[in-house]
Amino acid sequence: MCGIVAYIGNKEAYPILIEGLKKLEYRGYDSAGVALLNGDLKVIKKNGKVAELEKHVKTEAHTTQHKVGIAHTRWATHGKPNDINAHPHVSGDGRLAIIHNGIIENYMSIKKALLERGHDFESETDTEVLIHLIEEVQSTQKLPIEEAVRIALNQVVGAYAIVVIDKNEPNKLVGAKLSSPLVFGIGEDEYFLASDASPVIKYTNKMIYLEDGDVITVQRY
Ligand code: GLU
Repeated sequence: MCGIVAYIGNKEAYPILIEGLKKLEYRGYDSAGVALLNGDLKVIKKNGKVAELEKHVKTEAHTTQHKVGIAHTRWATHGKPNDINAHPHVSGDGRLAIIHNGIIENYMSIKKALLERGHDFESETDTEVLIHLIEEVQSTQKLPIEEAVRIALNQVVGAYAIVVIDKNEPNKLVGAKLSSPLVFGIGEDEYFLASDASPVIKYTNKMIYLEDGDVITVQRY
C-alpha cells in the first residue's frame, strides 16, 4: 500500500505534504515525491525514504509560495523502485501531474495505443500511462481536467486512488477512487485528499470517505 496526500488552501503546501507523507510511512513504501503548483509545475521525487526527499529538496529546490500540491509514497508494482518510476508522473505536455495508488491492469494495451499515436514514456509505470491517457482526452476534446479524468477512467481496468493537478487550472485538485482508499478532508479554507485520516486529522476532523467510482473536484474560488 502506498500513500497519497494532496493539499489546496491558504498555507504553504510543502511542509504539510511532507508531514503528511511521514504520517503515511507506516503503510510501507520504496520512494517518495511531491508536485507543487504556482504558475509552474515543480516535481521533486526520490528513491528511498521521505527523509531522503527532504534532504534532496533542501539543496535543489525552491518550495515556498505554493498553496497547491500532491505527494506520494510509492510501493512499486510496475517498474523497479528508482527516481524515474517514483511518483508524481507528468503528462507529455508537462501540464498535468498525477499520484496513484493501485494497479492499472490494462495499462499495456493503453500504452501500446498511445505509443502508436506518438506518446513517449519516461518510466516503466502503469501510472504514467494513465496521465498520458488523461492528457490525450483533455487535449483532443478540450475538456476541463475533471471531465478528462472521468472519461479516461472509463477506459481503465484496475484499482486506483488518484489525484491529478493541472498547471492551467491551478485552483483544482481532482481525485478518483476504485478499490483503493481516498479520504476528503474539509478544513477552514483548506482541503485535503489522502489515503487515510492520519495526514488530515491535525487540521480538521471533517472527513468524507469517498466511494468506489467517485470522481471529486476540489475547487478554490
Ligand atoms: N502501480 C503504481 C506503480 O508501480 C503505483 C504503486 C503504488 O500503489 O504505490 O508505480
